[in-house]
Amino acid sequence: MAKSPINKEKEKNQCIICRANKDGLPVKTDTVITTVRWFAKNVFKVKNMHRLVVCKDCYLEYKKARKRYIKRRNTYIILGALFAATLIIASSKSATGILYAVGAGALVIIGLYALSLLSYVPGLEKGS
Ligand SMILES: [Zn+2]
Repeated sequence: MAKSPINKEKEKNQCIICRANKDGLPVKTDTVITTVRWFAKNVFKVKNMHRLVVCKDCYLEYKKARKRYIKRRNTYIILGALFAATLIIASSKSATGILYAVGAGALVIIGLYALSLLSYVPGLEKGS
């Protein structure tokens, strides 16, 4: 295949593991990526954003990192849910108590989810 001139205008690829500008499997543009990109563009005024990929050399490492992330996120969600359930049970004597508990529980779950995002590893466009 001959190189087309379109390539010049294409966004540069960047591997999310080694940060090198290489070709690779495209990363799925999910809510987290969209949000981060929005902030980068509108708040931090980043221009020339890269297209996120996982290069061939990093694929195995990526798989491991993704697995670790999913595991951690699930643990956080379970912990959050348990904590919220405990709060609700503990305060079930009054209606307002339950309301406060549900609010506090939701905050805990959101907080833990945000915490899991510190080690965020996105999925790929094809497969997970
Ligand atoms: Zn790489």
